Amino acid sequence: MSGSTSRLQAISAVTSYKPISEPLNFNETSTQALFGSNVFSVAAMKARLPKEVFKSLKKTIDLGEKLDPNVADIVAAAMRDWAIEKGATHYAHVFYPLTGSTAEKHDSFLATDSEGAALAEFSGKALIQGEPDASSFPNGGIRATFEARGYTAWDVTSPAYILENPNGTTLCIPTAFVSWTGEALDKKTPLLRSMQALNVQAQRILRVFGHSNISRVVPYAGPEQEYFLIDRNFFFARPDLLHSGRSLFGAKPPRGQEFEDQYFGAIPERVLAFMLECERELYKLGVPVKTRHNEVAPAQYEIAPIYESANVATDHQQLVMSTMKRIAQKYGMACLLHEKPFAGVNGSGKHLNYSIGNSTQGNFLDPGDTPHENTQFLVFCAAIIRAVHKHGALLRASVATAANDHRLGANEAPPAIISIFLGEQLADVFEQIRKGGAKSSKKKGTLTIGVDTLPPLPKDAGDRNRTSPFAFTGNRFEFRAVGSGQSIAGPLVILNTIVTESLDYVATELESATKGDPKKLNGAVQKLIQEIMEKHGAVIFNGDGYSEAWHKEAAKRGLPNLKTTVDAIPAMGTKEVTDLFSKYKVLSKREVESRNDIYIEQYCKTLNVESNLVVKMAKTIILPAAVRYQDQLAAAYVKMKDLGYEFSTETLDNLTNLVKDLEDRVAALEEKKAHHGAKSLLDEAKHYCYEVLPAMQAVRESADKLEGVVADDLWSLPTYQEMLFIK
Ligand code: ADP
Ligand code: MG
Repeated sequence: MSGSTSRLQAISAVTSYKPISEPLNFNETSTQALFGSNVFSVAAMKARLPKEVFKSLKKTIDLGEKLDPNVADIVAAAMRDWAIEKGATHYAHVFYPLTGSTAEKHDSFLATDSEGAALAEFSGKALIQGEPDASSFPNGGIRATFEARGYTAWDVTSPAYILENPNGTTLCIPTAFVSWTGEALDKKTPLLRSMQALNVQAQRILRVFGHSNISRVVPYAGPEQEYFLIDRNFFFARPDLLHSGRSLFGAKPPRGQEFEDQYFGAIPERVLAFMLECERELYKLGVPVKTRHNEVAPAQYEIAPIYESANVATDHQQLVMSTMKRIAQKYGMACLLHEKPFAGVNGSGKHLNYSIGNSTQGNFLDPGDTPHENTQFLVFCAAIIRAVHKHGALLRASVATAANDHRLGANEAPPAIISIFLGEQLADVFEQIRKGGAKSSKKKGTLTIGVDTLPPLPKDAGDRNRTSPFAFTGNRFEFRAVGSGQSIAGPLVILNTIVTESLDYVATELESATKGDPKKLNGAVQKLIQEIMEKHGAVIFNGDGYSEAWHKEAAKRGLPNLKTTVDAIPAMGTKEVTDLFSKYKVLSKREVESRNDIYIEQYCKTLNVESNLVVKMAKTIILPAAVRYQDQLAAAYVKMKDLGYEFSTETLDNLTNLVKDLEDRVAALEEKKAHHGAKSLLDEAKHYCYEVLPAMQAVRESADKLEGVVADDLWSLPTYQEMLFIK
């Protein structure tokens, strides 16, 4: 049987694909009716809880006040009744371990009384606290394996929801996950701590600006998610995609993304059907999904919600990822969230839009039409500039994974150098301040299109810049280096913490300069921002982040260029950084260290799996195909010679050389893999980065050349062309 059977079967499955479910009908149930229908929302709480209990919960949610444990029994009973009306049989504490994924432990509402009759039970204690066995989650040495206790604690600020399955539903309760000693084992706990710290420092600044009615300050996050969709039949025929999330082999297709016809192009029918169902499911869960479009690479797309408070946005983002994976299957596709599933075409990121504000003063990063007069905005913006300059390495470390290394620094994603794009208008205002005082703001213009029937369009005061890792985009910053598959919690924790430290600094300076006298404020702000610009202005860069010149210039400015994960992660473990996290009670020294260990370990594990796959696939899939073709060519050569024909051996010679290369390179990779001399985890990671990874790449080069030579019917791996273009 020819080796290409699996490919042919995959293609025939793709072409004969039929939808498996009834079409959705948005006429019957409108988006408005669907939205939040599976959420135990503030409205649902208000309708179902006694007034006093509701008030108490609302205080915790809105003002961040301590949760009153006495309300738990009442809330639990209301939540249980609501969930059972929605068909729930079980409840689950959902938590976010350091793997970056979502974990859940389900328990049924079932209890039995003394006569053996069944009851539906859900106590306040069961709502507030869970106790999953924690020993199988990464903890970076915080606990020994025999100390298995871990606790989940109800996060009342993120609403509970119902997860549907065709055979029943489950009440899901977002929780924080901590060890027996109270140390964070998850991504939510430090996020909540960092939000608490940010609130304290931001309030000080608002008070300096004379505000008295100040509600809780929160960071907002709007994560744009990029992803690939390919047919599941191809996915299962590629062990590399299945087990490592990316293709470790695959020659560049004759056609890639050079026509630039994919971005914002018409969405294929099956993909659009998938998107509609995903969105419908997410509406039910109260996730405000808003935008969908084709992305730059073939088979690449994007989904973006409306921004929300960072904690809720983070939980919702996890739901977006899991929902996409689940619904893709229903439509016969696999959703790839890896940062670089296909070499040679764009990878996927998760642009993290970030701002700070509250319900009383609004968005602190809204410059208005005359930013040079908007001193409060300038102060918050300057604080962020200072934070990003001081802690660029830390921000870089927050997005450091083996997968994201393939993306950062390639000319499709922001470089690994962290700089800030401010845009023409703001860069000008800050430059004026640096030189002594800002007198004007460049005006927004009107766009002339030259067609009378088209309306005049207002034009922004500056253009956008796609090459910047940290760009100001009108009323927020956009952190573009975040990876598509990672939880946004990590980057948010770091952003919140470094901004908190800057706000603390700014508040202290302004408080001592004004001593409560509002007349001194403008002068103090001018002096403060001037100083910040002198010390930290080097982080501002409005040019082309992809250019060679910028790499040189950035080095001159002393901006770190941490190219890989092994360069970046150590930046998270310096004394300055552990002190910073301790000072604002976001992470203890032990928590920081354990996290670093986990991230380095994850890097090693990823590369170990990938290199195992490279060896296995090269030996059992690629080499056999090449040898079969060698055999066919050799047989043809002998026959032709027997018949007295001249027959060129060029193809056979070339093939034989490539086979030899492949064998040599696989042997070299195996040798690198067998190395066990590393003294520390970081050493081990460096070995993977500098020795194993290039050896894997060398094997791939030979294999990809073979793909261009071996008869197509003998090649069993689906090709890039097929995976990216057959939809
Ligand atoms: P882009 O043009 O950058 O691709 P999108 O519309 O795809 O823009 O996504 C922009 C994201 O930024 C959305 O999630 C949006 O809700 C979010 N966003 C808008 N304003 C803010 C803000 N003030 N703070 C945080 N996120 C915001
Ligand atoms: Mg977008």
